[in-house]
Amino acid sequence: MGFDSLLGNPRLKENLAAGAGRGKTSHCYLISGPAGSGKKTLARLLAAAILCEGENKPCLSCSHCRKVMADTHPDFITVTDPKHTKILVEQVRRIREDVFIRPNEGSKKIYLFAQDIRDEGLNALLKVLEEPPSYGVFMLLTEHPEQILTTVRSRSTELRLQALPEDTLRQALSRDFPDADPQTLNAAIFRSGGYLGQAKAYLSGGTGLSPETVAFCKSFASGDSLELLQVTVPMEKWKRDKVSTELGVWLELVQQALLYRSGVTAVLPLAREMALARRPEELLDAAKLLRKSIHYALSNVNCATVMWHLYWALK
Ligand SMILES: [Zn+2]
Repeated sequence: MGFDSLLGNPRLKENLAAGAGRGKTSHCYLISGPAGSGKKTLARLLAAAILCEGENKPCLSCSHCRKVMADTHPDFITVTDPKHTKILVEQVRRIREDVFIRPNEGSKKIYLFAQDIRDEGLNALLKVLEEPPSYGVFMLLTEHPEQILTTVRSRSTELRLQALPEDTLRQALSRDFPDADPQTLNAAIFRSGGYLGQAKAYLSGGTGLSPETVAFCKSFASGDSLELLQVTVPMEKWKRDKVSTELGVWLELVQQALLYRSGVTAVLPLAREMALARRPEELLDAAKLLRKSIHYALSNVNCATVMWHLYWALK
């Protein structure tokens, strides 16, 4: 089996499979990538590979692999703190003591930190990373590896997940969402930035759309300029890549509205709403304006100017 069930990322999988084959394990893995990029999937496969007693690790059929995949392996411990956005230092301190109790069934004891850890927590973890027990393995998941303390980072093996190629993403989505029409799939692929988890969230009821996108579509459909202003003003402070991505989604939806006007019915409900409320010329103007704004945002015009101009032109 190996790491095949993780999509894309061929070089990363090759390296991990080679390492697993040689029984080479690091004491700390820093697994990074945007939301929906497969960090948890990779962590689980890697844990299975480390504990696996079969061939072509992770074999996914030996008892260790099966228990890791079912989340029932006593030596694969997931640490989260649902009450807080980051894992607190107290929790890390408890783990720091627990790691000195030998593994139950496996050759290693693996801790998966499934959320970012506060800096004090990372400092506490650092003490174990400096002199870990031979069987201790830590996995840290993060969207922002650059924000992890360099002292921890320098002791970690960094595994960075990449965006998937469009055809890989399309294939996976067509398999999981057989009823989705091509237009909706395109929108999901565009919106996801190449990350499967984000595309799936989008297709599972459109919940992948940001509150700004929903508010933009609603205010554009109703012509409510105050609501539009409430969306655009906070975005003046955003970073330009975030602004251009967000405007890209707005453009995609306006284009879907235009398609709806030309007879394509398979579009997202928000696009239909705009199509029914606005004349085709208005939709065309909005599409042109959004395209121009994305161009400005990407060519160093500051975001406050881009969003202010967009607001006045749309209003
Ligand atoms: Zn196995």
